[in-house]
Amino acid sequence: MATIRLVQGDITSESADAIVNAANSSLLGGGGVDGAIHRRGGPAILAECRRLRETDYPAGLPTGQAVASTAGDLNARWVIHTVGPVWSQSEDRSALLASCYRESLRVAGELGASTVVFPAISTGVYGWPMDDGARIAIETVRSFAHVVEEVRFVLFDAHGYRAFETALS
Ligand code: ADP
Repeated sequence: MATIRLVQGDITSESADAIVNAANSSLLGGGGVDGAIHRRGGPAILAECRRLRETDYPAGLPTGQAVASTAGDLNARWVIHTVGPVWSQSEDRSALLASCYRESLRVAGELGASTVVFPAISTGVYGWPMDDGARIAIETVRSFAHVVEEVRFVLFDAHGYRAFETALS
């Protein structure tokens, strides 16, 4: 069973085997975590994402799935890109959010990554309520974390940190 740790800060300052990106399906960058990862990781990440679009994902990466690229200049070996669902009031998309965590861990396991860092997927631009996003993240990681040694959640602000602390306890 993996150790679960919480950190407040910027995910691009972390050092780990794999850093998970809250990407969008284009894989070609965006705001929030995605923008920060491409800025700090440099052009090698985008170059590999373009190749992924040309080869395996011509229509983009579907929501709930995950794929790895180089981590460029980040202190990691891989970036694992996953596409969270946009929050919906009328439709329960929790299974897709859980799938992001599960698929990212599956990819990490296949790569042989033993430390994996996650942001709070979907809780930014995609509008997922932080408390519910934290609950789904912790529940899912607890049941699938046997493939890695350490899972670290990096929360940007105190509100996110507290939500994950509550979900963990
Ligand atoms: P999504 O589109 O999946 O909602 P975002 O990147 O907009 O993804 O936001 C996901 C979460 O990551 C939000 O809680 C946001 O506050 C947080 N966040 C944004 N930038 C960073 C960063 N550099 N490091 C860690 N967390 C971040």
